[in-house]
Formats: sequence, C-alpha cells, structure tokens
Amino acid sequence: MSDWESVIGLEIHAQLATVSKIFSGASTAFGADPNTQACAVDLGMPGVLPVLNREAVSMAIRFGVAIDAEIDRHSVFARKNYFYPDLPKGYQISQFELPIVGKGHISVSPGEGEHKEIGITRAHLEEDAGKSIHDQFPEQTGIDLNRAGTPLLEIVSEPDMRSAKEAVAYARKIHSLVRYLEICDGNMQEGSFRCDANVSVRRKGEQELGTRAELKNINSFRFLERAINFEIERQIDLIDDGGRVVQETRLYDAERDETRSMRSKEEANDYRYFPDPDLLPVTVSDEDIAQIRAGLPELPEQKKQRYIDELKLSDYNAELLTGNRDTALFFEATLAESPELSAQLVNWILGDLAGALNKAGLEISDSPIKPTMLTQLVARIADNTISGKIAKEVFDAMWQGEGSADDVIEARGLKQITDSGAIETLIDEVIAANPEQVEQFRAGKEKVLGFFVGQVMKQSQGKANPGQVNAILRDKLK
Ligand code: ADP
Ligand code: MG
Repeated sequence: MSDWESVIGLEIHAQLATVSKIFSGASTAFGADPNTQACAVDLGMPGVLPVLNREAVSMAIRFGVAIDAEIDRHSVFARKNYFYPDLPKGYQISQFELPIVGKGHISVSPGEGEHKEIGITRAHLEEDAGKSIHDQFPEQTGIDLNRAGTPLLEIVSEPDMRSAKEAVAYARKIHSLVRYLEICDGNMQEGSFRCDANVSVRRKGEQELGTRAELKNINSFRFLERAINFEIERQIDLIDDGGRVVQETRLYDAERDETRSMRSKEEANDYRYFPDPDLLPVTVSDEDIAQIRAGLPELPEQKKQRYIDELKLSDYNAELLTGNRDTALFFEATLAESPELSAQLVNWILGDLAGALNKAGLEISDSPIKPTMLTQLVARIADNTISGKIAKEVFDAMWQGEGSADDVIEARGLKQITDSGAIETLIDEVIAANPEQVEQFRAGKEKVLGFFVGQVMKQSQGKANPGQVNAILRDKLK
C-alpha cells in the first residue's frame, strides 16, 4: 500500500436553513406528511414562475465570505435536465458556469498538531429534488415532493485530500462552519448535510490524477471514512491484479461495509445545461457583501485564537473545543459561571465527558450532564468538598441521572472529610494495626508512606482529604 497515494475530493450538499423554498413560498420544515409542502412551483406546473429567495442568496454569501472566497457579482441559474420520478419539472435549477461562490479555502486539522489547507473550487445554489420512498408500499414506489425546491448549497472541494482521515477532517470542518454560520442545521440523518466522495489512487510521485469513482449514499462521518478506505483498497487491488479503474458512481452499503457500482460514465446523463430563462441573473453589490461580512458571528478560527490568547489553552485543545459548535457552546456555558475554573473545565469536557459521549454514541447537545452540572462538579473539587477521585464517581452518577453534583454528594454521603480530628482517629487506627510497616518507615523506607495513605483512604471510603492525610501521617510516623 505504501507505493500508493490516494486522492480525494468532496462534494457536500448543505440544505440551507431558510423558512421557505428557494423558488417558492412553500415551507421547508422537516417531517410533515408527504406532499403537504409542495406548491405549484415545486410541482413544476405549467404557467408558474420561480421567484428567488433572497435569504438563500445571503446564506450562500455568508459561506463564501467565511472561506475567503471570491463572491461572484453576477451569477446565473441554469437548468440541469434529467428524468427521474422525484423531479417533476424534468430539470433541476442549479448553477453551472457562473456559481455564486468562487475559489476559497479552509484549514483543517486531521490530527494533533497537524494543519492542512484544503482548496474549495466553488459553491453554488440549487434546488433539492423530492424523495422516492421504496419501503412503504409493496411492489410500488411512493414519491414525496416535500423536499422538492429546498435550497441547497453544493460545496465542491479541490482534490486536495490524501487520506480518508483528511477527508473526514475536512467534512467535519465544513459541517462545523455551516452550523456556526447558522445556514444549515447539519442533521446528517435527516439528509440536511450530505457528502459525496470522489476517490482515486496513483503511484507515489506521479503527477497525473488517477481515474476516480464517486461514492454516494454516505450519511455519517464514520461511514465516510469507511467508504473511502474500502474504495482505496478496492482500486489498489484492482490495479495490482492488472485491471483498471473505470469512472463511475458507486453506492456505499453500510451494512456490508462496501461500495458497489451504480452507474458508469458511459451511462451518465448528458445534462444539457442552459441558462434558465425564467430567472434573472443574480447581481450582488459590494454593499451587500460588506453588510453580510459585518453580520458574521465569531467563526471557529477566531474563537480558537481567542481561547489560545485569553484562556491560554493549547492549540490542540482550542481546536478540539471549537471544532464543533455545540462543544464550544457547551464549554462557554460552563465558563460563564466559573471563568476561573477554565483549565479544569477543559479537562473534564475533553476528557471524561468526551469519553462518555463517545462510548454512548451521543452528541454533546444530547449529553445527560448539562453545563451547569459540570460546572458545579468542578467547583466542588475546587472548594475541597470532594476529591478528584470521588469526582469521577459523582460524574458517573450524574451521567446515570442521579441529579446534580450536590444531589449526588448529599445522597451518597461523599463529602470529603476535612476535619483533622476525624482524620487523626483514622490514622491512629491504621498505625496501630500495622506495626511492621511503622518499623519499616522508621528504618528509612519512605515508600511505605504510600501504603499508609492508601489504607487511610480505604478506611475513609475515599473521602479523607488526601493532602491532610499525607501531612498528618508524616507527622505521626516520625
Ligand atoms: P463532476 O461534476 O462530474 O462530479 P467535478 O470535476 O466537478 O466533476 O469534480 C467533482 C469532485 O471530484 C471535486 O471535488 C474534485 O475535487 C473531485 N475530483 C476530480 N478529479 C478527481 C480525481 N481524479 N480523484 C479524486 N477526486 C477528484
Ligand atoms: Mg459530481
């Protein structure tokens, strides 16, 4: 495998979070009864005319400004002609030669301390198609046109990625960015954020790109990584066996963890693009762009830099916290109450909380431990109510739904023992029970101290303040 280099370019479709469709007033809300949200325009009835949704254009420009792209002052909608049951007009309105967003770039971090610049070729506006429903009526296919006409921003990358890991880092970065910009809800299960991966391989050092396959039907980042890795291996094996890769579209099958051919280039449609005569070209002024730029929220890169400057976080931790908008929001919510505990909060969020979420397969927005609960936990360590070790127990109990940190500490009787009288009593008992170890300590075997600390902590069920235990023990053993 090491003789080979893989090359990946992604096409991402982000549904824009407008209230109504891109060319009609019908609602874009998800989950309505089939065909209740498609109006005459979405259905492609004769005699109707599309009217461009201004908000969709603003959202595309927001994205363009955020990736430092050229915004085309003059862009054109084109008809992309093909026949499919979920496309009543027989064409999709898209942009072809003159997209609204031109070349841009974004920096991604595929691993600790790694940075890579990925080029974005273009991003254009288009309308979504309806949905074919294959699993509701035996032997028949249903058509739901609610989605027809929902605005999409198609974001096309340069073939700049060299591994599945880089491709996933890029996809996550774009996902995070559209959520920061509040132009897309990012829900991959509902299809609001979809990735197609173009994959090819070539021998290391070769300049020319290999023939690519385009992978579709990928609805999670985990599957994106698996689909690309499967495809890289398939292509290398194929060439090693004397075959050659053909340009085609392949579907990823998550259940079998494989890709299989859907249609080859020869069968591909000829879309016969031409400018849509029903729509005027879109003109954007410098003032429009300046106004949109001024209204941008704090973007991940800026947030990251602020965390590094103001909170003295490491580059890597700042990247992890800002890589996902919900993580940053969670962190800032915990911070709002106890800014002085930022370092501890970062450790808990990126450590125990991230681990627990990962294990449970949950997103941070669905965490059973809410920001206020975590802040309280960290505050109880800081004010010596509990030790760091007991805090892990409290964390687990909060995760299981036993209430806030204070509730758990109270209900389970976990309050740290800081009363030196009580600690002394425990220590006296332990010393009396272990005369041999006392001898050893007095003969100079310092290490035995650890044994005593352990015994006292055990006797106190972990609740004695470790600092006090240490100090009093040393005193008594002398
Ligand atoms: P199409 O419109 O037919 O899908 P494009 O030229 O627009 O083709 O390319 C689509 C995507 O494929 C882009 O993200 C691009 O970076 C990527 N791509 C193009 N050629 C290759 C290749 N040889 N290997 C991997 N990715 C490629
Ligand atoms: Mg394509």
